[in-house]
Amino acid sequence: MAPNEMNASANRAAEETTLKQQLVDCIRMLERNEIMDYNGHASIRLADDRILINSGPCQRSQLTVDDVCVIDLEGNQLAGKDNAPLERHLHCGIYRVRPDAKAIIHCHPKWSTYLTMVGQAYQPVYAQGSLVHPVPLLDSPNSINNRQMADWLASTLGDRPAALLKSHGAVTVGRDIVEAFTLMNYMEENAMRQYMALQIGKPYVFTDDEMRLCRDKLWNAGLFQRTWDHFRAKLG
Ligand SMILES: [Zn+2]
Repeated sequence: MAPNEMNASANRAAEETTLKQQLVDCIRMLERNEIMDYNGHASIRLADDRILINSGPCQRSQLTVDDVCVIDLEGNQLAGKDNAPLERHLHCGIYRVRPDAKAIIHCHPKWSTYLTMVGQAYQPVYAQGSLVHPVPLLDSPNSINNRQMADWLASTLGDRPAALLKSHGAVTVGRDIVEAFTLMNYMEENAMRQYMALQIGKPYVFTDDEMRLCRDKLWNAGLFQRTWDHFRAKLG
């Protein structure tokens, strides 16, 4: 191998290691924040369309880079000491039709799922919550563990950054893992505030103009990174 090819190969390997660590941090932060339980998963798409994803049986709160698997766009396992999750198809289905998607999170967070259980539409009740609005809903509680369900979810999601799955969970899509993580946080926080407000009255819902102002101000890589850093610092 020529020296410049060796350098390029070493750079790719170093970048992959960095992305694996980001994936690990993302899952540990979601678990610490009680957004992800023992079943959730997150992924990052590499430049060659291989996908980094945590293994199914891994301990989310104690995750390390050794728990990260590599799969292809069809869900075939390429590397990893344990198997990728059964719902790996969710990630593959979205990546296949969304070239802009570089990172995906799927978990079963309580507050946003409560809304879907009773047919209560997700409504933006605080500024950051408006970034994912409107949130499409997959009208099925079934696991995304086959290609048919994955394609259905991907078409329900369309070009949106987030979707909810009825009586099941949530998915966010980002141009990087920081964006997918931040949007999952904002969506779940908004759902919690909406749920709580509904207990004592009718929550105020942001108008279209107010949401536009929020998106102009808050859809910002610097603010996404600040949100990530806030939760990352708590991991120690
Ligand atoms: Zn699920």
